[in-house]
Amino acid sequence: MIHISQLNELNSFIINCKAEGKKIGFVPTLGALHDGHMSLIRKASEKADVIICSIFVNPTQFDDKEDLKKYPRTITKDIEKLRAEPCDVCFTPSVEEVYPNGMKITKSYQLGRLEHILEGETRPGHYQGVCQVVERLLKMVQPDVLFLGQKDFQQVMILSKMIEQREIPVQVEMCPIIREHDGLARSSRNVRLTDDERLVSNQLYKTLLKCKESAKKIEITKLKTWAEVNLNLEPLITVDYIRFCDAKTLEEIYDFEDAEHVVLLGAIFIGQIRLIDNLIIC
Ligand code: AMP
Repeated sequence: MIHISQLNELNSFIINCKAEGKKIGFVPTLGALHDGHMSLIRKASEKADVIICSIFVNPTQFDDKEDLKKYPRTITKDIEKLRAEPCDVCFTPSVEEVYPNGMKITKSYQLGRLEHILEGETRPGHYQGVCQVVERLLKMVQPDVLFLGQKDFQQVMILSKMIEQREIPVQVEMCPIIREHDGLARSSRNVRLTDDERLVSNQLYKTLLKCKESAKKIEITKLKTWAEVNLNLEPLITVDYIRFCDAKTLEEIYDFEDAEHVVLLGAIFIGQIRLIDNLIIC
C-alpha cells in the first residue's frame, strides 16, 4: 500500500490505473478506522482492481465545532491497519488541497426534505458538507464504485441523490453494518464512551432488534412508544428519535402497509455522544 497526501501524486496514480483499464473502488472515511471501515475495504477488493481509502476529517460536515475538535484522529494507527488490508492507496489530503478556495459552500445541493429529517434535524448543514466533500473527493479519485456503509443509511441516500443530480459516473454499493460482540454498531465515536456508557450503549441495537421481531404483529405507534420509553428508562440514555420509515424516501410511516420497504432508524445520546443505528425491517 502507498500513502499519498499530495493531489498531483494521486492524479498520476489515477491516470496510470485508467490507462491500464483498472476498476477503481473508493472508500471515503473520517479516519479512526475500525472493523466497519475494514469491511468496506474488503468488499471493495472483491469488486474492484484498485482500492483507494481516503482519510479526511471534513470540517464542513461538523455542525458542532466541539465535535470536530474532539473527533478521534489516529492517522499513524490507521495507516498501519490499512497496510494489513487489501488497500492499495491511503489518500490523506490536506484541508487546503480539498478546499483551495476556502470552505464556504458556494453551490448548494438540492436535497429536498431528505436533508432536514432524522440526522438533519439535529445536525443542520451536515449533509451539505458531506455532499461537498464527497463530490470533491470523487472528482479527485474518479472511482468506478463508491463503497458506503448502511450504518449511515440516510447518508447513502443523500449521496446517491447528489451523484445522480451531478451526473457523476460512479456506482454506489451499500455495505452491511459491522457490530461489536454485544451488538453495538462499530463507530469511531465509541472510543469516547466511558466504561459505564459502553455497557449500556448496545441498548439501541437490542431495542431496534426487538421492534423488528415484533414488526407486523404490533402496531408501529405502539412499538415506537415502547422503544422510546424502554431506552429512556436507562438513566445514561436520552432518545433523540426512533422512527419507522419508508426505505425509499425516509419519510416516517405509521402503518406497515404504507411502504413496500421499511427501515427502522434510531439515534440516542449517551452523555455528550450521539449514536445512530438502523435495521432494515422488510
Ligand atoms: P466515517 O469514517 O464514520 O465517515 O465512515 C466511513 C464509512 O464507513 C461510511 O460509509 C460509514 O457508513 C462506514 N461505516 C462506519 N461504521 C460502520 C460500521 N459499523 N459498519 C459498516 N460501515 C461502517
